[in-house]
Amino acid sequence: VTVRETPTLETPVLIVGGGPVGLTASLLLSQHGVASLLVERHPGTAILPKARGINARTMEMYRQHGVEAAIRAAGLPVERTGLIVWTESLAGAEIERRVPGRFRAANVAHSPVRNCLCAQDDLEPVLRRFAEAAGPGELRFSTELTAISTDADGVSGTLHDRAGGVETAVRARFLISAEGAQSRMRRMIGARMEGEEKVYDSVNILFHADLRPWTQHRPAALYFVEQPELRGTFMTINAHDRWGFLIHSLTQYGLRPADLTPERCAAFIRQAVGVDDLDVQVKGVSVWEASAIVADRFRDGPVFLAGDAAHEMPPTGGFGLNTGVQDAQNLCWKLAAVLHGHADASLLATYHAERQPLATQITRSALANALSMGRTQRQQGAKLARPEFLNEQGLIFGVTYTSDAVVPDGTAPLAVADPVTEYIPSATPGRRAPHVPLVRDGEPISTIDLFGPRFVLVAGRQGGAWAEAAEAIATARRLPLAAHRIGGDVEEADAPWHDAYGVGEAGAVLVRPDGHVAWRSAEGEADPARVLAQAFDRVLGRGSL
Ligand SMILES: Cc1cc2nc3c(=O)[nH]c(=O)nc-3n(C[C@H](O)[C@H](O)[C@H](O)COP(=O)(O)OP(=O)(O)OC[C@H]3O[C@@H](n4cnc5c(N)ncnc54)[C@H](O)[C@@H]3O)c2cc1C
Repeated sequence: VTVRETPTLETPVLIVGGGPVGLTASLLLSQHGVASLLVERHPGTAILPKARGINARTMEMYRQHGVEAAIRAAGLPVERTGLIVWTESLAGAEIERRVPGRFRAANVAHSPVRNCLCAQDDLEPVLRRFAEAAGPGELRFSTELTAISTDADGVSGTLHDRAGGVETAVRARFLISAEGAQSRMRRMIGARMEGEEKVYDSVNILFHADLRPWTQHRPAALYFVEQPELRGTFMTINAHDRWGFLIHSLTQYGLRPADLTPERCAAFIRQAVGVDDLDVQVKGVSVWEASAIVADRFRDGPVFLAGDAAHEMPPTGGFGLNTGVQDAQNLCWKLAAVLHGHADASLLATYHAERQPLATQITRSALANALSMGRTQRQQGAKLARPEFLNEQGLIFGVTYTSDAVVPDGTAPLAVADPVTEYIPSATPGRRAPHVPLVRDGEPISTIDLFGPRFVLVAGRQGGAWAEAAEAIATARRLPLAAHRIGGDVEEADAPWHDAYGVGEAGAVLVRPDGHVAWRSAEGEADPARVLAQAFDRVLGRGSL
């Protein structure tokens, strides 16, 4: 029996889906001072590990939002996951081992924050805990959005409480579809998915077995097994007795999903380990298909697609979750700026402009990784990954946004030979504001620690007038904005900050709440208050320079 509950629930932002992207959006919106309602049709968070690799850029974001330590506590120390290994079986001959480019010292130096291996079913409870603490009563599990319509002022929908059968009308100004790959909203808004659909099939198995005898001496995030009739990947979860196992290209090897009983899965795992009498307990089996597709529009009116709803990519490279939660980071400060009245609604158009081209580039790279590993064909003999695999500094740190929410400063865009693997630190507007070591109150910090979840102006040693102008604007417009000056509240550690940020000592840089440079002035100006006010107007869609 369906019972209708009245009155209509009203919320500024309705988040549909309680996966990593929805949970992150809920937390970030709360930290931006915006109420939201998250609905998730399942009774709880993920029960199977899918993503595990949380990259350094995502961990920077979680650090800026106070969640880093809790994620690390739920995950594995980085030094226990520093390799990737190819073997004929875990107990058999090793084919190759690599230190992924991302873990090399020169690349690790791009951030004060390391990547983290934390399985999705361990990560989501952490995100849920933080989201619920930041927005009490704003997350509803066992609740499905079943009907939806949009109009010029927002969305109206129906929530179905799957536990109690109650239906409730809901009204929101904006909706974030964090519904994952099955997103109904992306069909509703008529988004076309561009790219290659269903490029290979796979099964994801969660199992318990003590694999330390074959792994402890070569701690790796991934162990690829290459046999003539079985190609699979052991995915490290706790590096002890909890593991994931993927079997690739099932149908190419004559396997059907129905064949994958727990007993058969355990037999495949024993075969891949190379130990016939290994004690294996299969805890979950999930058949899935890898696609490489991106929505041609991330937004329609009040509806925004984020995460797998907006882009599906093969997991080769570990970018699905990372790209999704960074979508949320990009979107949430913009929604907050509009809802708080700081920005014109036109700012919201920059979400698609900034994220869609990037998601397309990342998805293509993830597909190229998969193809280089022979994932789409039946394979005789090992096929090792292309050198770009897990070496994507450019995609992780080198992201450049070009949109109306960035004020170009006339400098030439940075050119690199390979935008996937190469990262050159730069504070050109649109780029991630780079990591530079600083000192505050005698303690070592990074520029990264100054950013998020508000605007931040950093001024050079002679840039006091910029910092004063920023403080005046923050007060007058009630903008979430902090100002720092080298030689003021922060000091340089070793290298000069202004060189790294491409400005003189009287220059300044304005960084957005998502850590990207919004505006930069190489030197001082006669009227810094006016110049900075114009920059804000431009970034927030309130006029042009
Ligand atoms: C084997 C494997 C390994 C992977 N490894 C990595 C990795 O190392 N790194 C990485 O970054 N990514 C990885 N990924 C990808 C990652 O798992 C996904 O990108 C990520 O889960 C996407 O998150 P999401 O929140 O967008 O969607 P989901 O996690 O799919 O969550 C969407 C949620 O929305 C809910 N929902 C849908 N419709 C409704 C509705 N109408 N009402 C209420 N709730 C609804 C669903 O129940 C679901 O819980 C991997 C994926 C796989 C399969």
